[in-house]
Amino acid sequence: MQDYTKVSVLVVGAGPAGLAAAMTAKRLNPDAEVCVIDKAAGPGNHNLSGAVLEAKALAKLLDPIDPAWRDSDDAKAVLTATVDKDDVMFFCGQKRAFKILPMLKLAGKMKLAFGQMIHENDYICSVSKLTAWLCKLAAAAGVEVLHGFAAEDILWDSAAHRAVGVKLVDQGLNKEGHKEHNYQAGETITADAVILAEGCDGLLSEKFIQKAGLVRQGNQLYSIGVKELIRVSDEQYAKFTPGRVVHAMGWPLWTPVIGPAMFGGGIMYPMGDNHIAVGMIVGLDFKYCDFNPQDALTLFKEHAFVKPFIDGGTVTEAGAKMIPEGGLYAMPRCPETGAIGRGNVMLVGDSAGFVNMLKIKGLHNAIESGIAAGTAAADNLDAPLGLAGVYTRLLDGTGVLKELETAKNFRQTVAKFGPLQGMPLSVLGGWLPRYKIEPDYETMTTARYRLRPAVRFDKDTFTAVAATEHREEQPGHLTILDGNLCMEKCVGKFGAPCVTFCPAGVYERIGDQPKAANPSNCLHCKTCQRKCPFDNIRWTAPEPTGGPRYKTM
Ligand code: SF4
Ligand code: SF4
Repeated sequence: MQDYTKVSVLVVGAGPAGLAAAMTAKRLNPDAEVCVIDKAAGPGNHNLSGAVLEAKALAKLLDPIDPAWRDSDDAKAVLTATVDKDDVMFFCGQKRAFKILPMLKLAGKMKLAFGQMIHENDYICSVSKLTAWLCKLAAAAGVEVLHGFAAEDILWDSAAHRAVGVKLVDQGLNKEGHKEHNYQAGETITADAVILAEGCDGLLSEKFIQKAGLVRQGNQLYSIGVKELIRVSDEQYAKFTPGRVVHAMGWPLWTPVIGPAMFGGGIMYPMGDNHIAVGMIVGLDFKYCDFNPQDALTLFKEHAFVKPFIDGGTVTEAGAKMIPEGGLYAMPRCPETGAIGRGNVMLVGDSAGFVNMLKIKGLHNAIESGIAAGTAAADNLDAPLGLAGVYTRLLDGTGVLKELETAKNFRQTVAKFGPLQGMPLSVLGGWLPRYKIEPDYETMTTARYRLRPAVRFDKDTFTAVAATEHREEQPGHLTILDGNLCMEKCVGKFGAPCVTFCPAGVYERIGDQPKAANPSNCLHCKTCQRKCPFDNIRWTAPEPTGGPRYKTM
């Protein structure tokens, strides 16, 4: 490609959804100039997930490119195993664990929506590795994949109802925002079609939703996932078995008798080479002002079922990321047409919110949404104003939206009634009404989380193994909008929760005043933007290449 500042199809975000879109657009329209930009330093560096991936979506993407893709060395290295031991469990206190898979299988036989929470024969993979592989395939197919390109805004023409392109971040400003000798104004990339694939709570995606007047039927609900990759002994890995995945609800997030009650659970996935990924996912509608999801991860690792597999192991990598859990009701749509986008802009993957919380998975839908967006773009570049509508109709034909329909009340019901009552009630599925749920940041209370690990979580080590870095001498990319509000309303009542829940220790109280003191530690998880109880934090894009450098997350 001669000039990346003027392209036919621009994809923002080189994750599985964005790359699926780009590869499909290029395959179907080889003359189109297809470009993917990503703020990370390298392929997969900002991608984190469990991950368990339904095989069908990947085959749909790759079969038309190379029917023998499964035999490649890369495929074998990335798709480490298929699930042959699916341990869906309930942890009842710190010692006991019950398998609930048989109940889910029964639910499946009875055609209840809960039967979806089964992972047998899915691929087990690291999404950073999957992304790096897809980047390689996309580049080989003629897609321009550019890392180190951070976008700060979408240029929306409200009269024409179309995006002109995107504006990249300025580089070379000092902490005070003054130009240094190497200052470089962020370029504008113009495009006929724009596909927003930034992941959860994307900066451009949320700006686009506002500028283009898209609406959600219900608030998006988020969770945070914190994850560690642990190298264990040969014996421990063999005992765990390479085809086993564990999803465990219950302790330490909730117990049937005493609470505390939070939605979420722990995961364990084998990652090959004697590594086990261990993670904790917690709904951001938690109410405890002193809660740190990493402490819950520590408690999970101490559970009698988990500990024997990882005891004495070494944490080799770690990271954190938000997950959009609101499902179909939280999907941003054009109010007039129902399109998931508007004009020549399409939202795909986590930017739109394709996670199915009844499956605890979204990667397959992210890839499907990317294929649909890429197909729409490839075939309709001469009439880009109708792209979002074409994309949504194509998605309708894939079954993705039907699948999400089956789960549409699940997360909202749990948010409304709490996991103790909400989980059983949600069995009623489509019979339930659409509950109006407050945004996550409004759920904070003065209640304290009663469980404590013996040793508080070490955030410094966590960020070190996440390998996160930013140029120190740049304007802070995290803004506390009103410092007085922190002092007058938050510190006394809630004790400045941002200091506790930020997984990277970015926030500190200096004197007593909460500040974003360590922005260079930031993992780009966006939790602070969605969980500050006064909606008092804004995340903006730092200079490109800043952030974590995940390899096997
Ligand atoms: Fe509280 Fe938000 Fe201020 Fe942090 S930034 S002290 S969470 S109001
Ligand atoms: Fe996540 Fe915000 Fe902390 Fe960065 S500062 S790691 S976005 S919670």
